[in-house]
Amino acid sequence: MSLVEVKVPDIGDFDSVPVIELFVKVGDSIKVDDAICTLESDKATMDVPSSAAGVVKEVLVNVGDKVAEGAVLLKVEAASAVGAAPAASPSGGPAGTVADQKLAAGAAPTGAAAVAAAPSAASHGGAADVEYDMVVLGAGPGGYSAAFRAADLGLKTAIIERYASLGGVCLNVGCIPSKALLHVAAVIEEAEHVHSAGISFAKPSVDVDALRKHKDGVIGKLTGGLAGMAKARKVDVIRGYGHFLDPHHLEVEETTGTSQDKTGAKKVVKFKQCIIAAGSAAVHLPFIPKDPRIVDSTGALELRQVPGKMLVIGGGIIGLEMATVYSTLGARIDVVEMMDGLMQGPDRDAVKVWEKQNAHRFDNVMLKTRTVAVEAKDDGLWVKFEGEGAPAEPVRYDMILQSAGRAPNGKKIGADKAGVIVGERGFIPVDAQMRTNVPHIFAIGDIVGQPMLAHKAVHEAHVAAEVAAGHKAAFDATVIPGVAYTHPEVAWVGYTEAQAKAEGKKVDTAKFPWAASGRAIANGADYGFTKLIFDAETHRVIGGTIVGPSAGDMIGEVCLAIEMGADAVDIGKTIHPHPTLGETVGMAAEVAHGSCTDLPPMRKK
Ligand code: FAD
Repeated sequence: MSLVEVKVPDIGDFDSVPVIELFVKVGDSIKVDDAICTLESDKATMDVPSSAAGVVKEVLVNVGDKVAEGAVLLKVEAASAVGAAPAASPSGGPAGTVADQKLAAGAAPTGAAAVAAAPSAASHGGAADVEYDMVVLGAGPGGYSAAFRAADLGLKTAIIERYASLGGVCLNVGCIPSKALLHVAAVIEEAEHVHSAGISFAKPSVDVDALRKHKDGVIGKLTGGLAGMAKARKVDVIRGYGHFLDPHHLEVEETTGTSQDKTGAKKVVKFKQCIIAAGSAAVHLPFIPKDPRIVDSTGALELRQVPGKMLVIGGGIIGLEMATVYSTLGARIDVVEMMDGLMQGPDRDAVKVWEKQNAHRFDNVMLKTRTVAVEAKDDGLWVKFEGEGAPAEPVRYDMILQSAGRAPNGKKIGADKAGVIVGERGFIPVDAQMRTNVPHIFAIGDIVGQPMLAHKAVHEAHVAAEVAAGHKAAFDATVIPGVAYTHPEVAWVGYTEAQAKAEGKKVDTAKFPWAASGRAIANGADYGFTKLIFDAETHRVIGGTIVGPSAGDMIGEVCLAIEMGADAVDIGKTIHPHPTLGETVGMAAEVAHGSCTDLPPMRKK
């Protein structure tokens, strides 16, 4: 057994950062990725993970010491190696292990899969048709952002994409089309609401074909814009299905039309560096038959029909957003969810507000219940359920939306041929610089882990491209916000009260009810609230939840406050425009320090 040094990784442009907490002592057994200590810069705190597994023999820092990249923190008597190096080193030098990568770059971003042994890389003996500094596999928000950033930084870049348009799931069949439809649904509902203010409209007549055309127009504007921006940057777009041949070559099977139909033509693309951004796909439950009346989110967004009665399998955000659209267009909705509540993630008080505002949409919300069988008959889709909320007899539906989650595409790209580790569930583990275990191959977006969100993919994309171009960059975001773009919207970031409770973390909570907001009352949204969560010791804001119209637009302020280490005074003394819903963030902060004059007298703090 040898002694291994665990050092401070690349922590960005900081050369003297204090250690504020130390988690290990001599004699402790530690694993790769166990937190060793917390460093605090003027921008953020960061946990330093161990790059080695074994028994701690020496601790070379104390709380209060200032450290820089490369400083030795521990000496560890190493246990067996974690994650063997790929057999073929693509660039001729030592390829290194995932653990080595973490040593070089710091903490892995959220959700990376467990470290496994690296596969043996293949070797492509043939020639290449084209050659690039950087090839990006997949043109979703992660892929196109990475490619554009890489090109802006001077790398000769190509994107490989199997579909005709750029933008991936988000622009074509995800974030954007769903929001185009949700906007229309919101307008319909607003029109109904102003009835109480003396304004009445006739019941809307829905032309589904025109609505679909409107949604497709929104998509076309954005994807067309991306194609133009790729051209302006001289980023080549190679249409086809890409898979690795070895650590420096991808084969692209050309596709055509609006789908992924292969033409039979093939091209070998050589790259110096590569960013894998191949995204994820909807999970299809194996026992559910193929039938045009059964769709996933992509099928639901095609708006083929507005059913009389629709079942949504999975009460997560995607399912509830689509339920909002279809119910506003006239469908009656049932939801079945295995967990004990809809919309896992935000605090239950926010979900309760959403539930009250949305009760009219649902005939039956079946919690702690599973769909166990579906029979497609001429008269409808007959569904059997099991669990606490299960009806005794099968129930008939006109349409079923499967929204039981998404799975990464990691196992569909021949990553093993490049020596890239893919975890059991298809996620590709990466370090904080978004490098896989093969140093010149990066991975970003849905394929590297949760949360599967476009804004996380874009942030990771910029990190990967900047690192590839030789810049110092790392993924060190403290928080990633989540938003349900339902009516009302629910947005949250950082700690929830439930999470703080589960972790035994001491927090102070301040809630500003929108019943006291002039703008919310004027807008008919006095049911909402804004809640901030503060660390009880440092008084810094560490979380926030907003429920109400435009909550997703407002949560950005809470994200910034957390990233900047703001406390209640920083937020409360920042002048917010009046009368706005955004003002409620400032007022929640005033509640926290006891200076809010828009609520009845408060307890002195
Ligand atoms: P993707 O967008 O999945 O892109 C991957 C691309 O790679 C695709 O274009 C695919 O065709 C291509 N590809 C894959 N394999 C190959 C291959 N072998 N060869 C060539 N090309 C390949 N996120 C949000 O942040 N906000 C939202 O409001 C939101 N709403 C959503 C609504 C719905 C209905 C859905 C389904 C998702 C939503 N998401 C939302 C999630 C968001 O779409 C994803 O997180 C985001 O698209 C991930 O980006 P990505 O670049 O990692 O991958």
